[in-house]
Amino acid sequence: MTKVLYPGSFDPMTKGHMNIVEQASDLFDEVIIAVMQNPLKKSGLFTLEERMEIIKELYQRMNNVRVISASGAAVDVALLNECKAIIRGLRSLSDYDYEVQLQQMNKEISDNKVNTICLFADKEYQFVSSSMVKEVLNLDKDISRYVDPIVRERMLVKKRSLIR
Ligand code: ADP
Repeated sequence: MTKVLYPGSFDPMTKGHMNIVEQASDLFDEVIIAVMQNPLKKSGLFTLEERMEIIKELYQRMNNVRVISASGAAVDVALLNECKAIIRGLRSLSDYDYEVQLQQMNKEISDNKVNTICLFADKEYQFVSSSMVKEVLNLDKDISRYVDPIVRERMLVKKRSLIR
């Protein structure tokens, strides 16, 4: 059984992330989405618990997709969960530069035990990012092209609670 880990901040999960999960779940027996706590990233829109809750709801009917939360090195999370590789999504050349460095570091700190597999975003999701969706929400514009209705609803509720 081939398991892979898809780590990320997912603040929030976009249709771009979902496109990568869909591709990975077609290729591998199990995809573990690791919602990462990253103390170096400035505080986001959703807490770790909220991001987990949303993603669990999105994938409750997909039996080869599991959602966990984690902190620390993604390679350690991968080893702990017996994952053969880490999945990363590529949108553009700017993603590529960062991901090349990240995969090299991950290889080194895991003593070559964990490899990285990059999957390409389908073209309609090439410009979708969590930060862009948050910007569009902030401008009171429609975000339904970029996120699932479950995520959209949670974002609208969150925005109302922040304004109050
Ligand atoms: P991180 O903080 O680890 O970069 P993100 O949630 O921003 O977490 O992204 C997780 C992974 O998903 C990264 O590999 C990123 O390049 C990828 N990704 C983000 N948005 C998209 C998208 N629209 N299409 C494909 N991959 C994406």
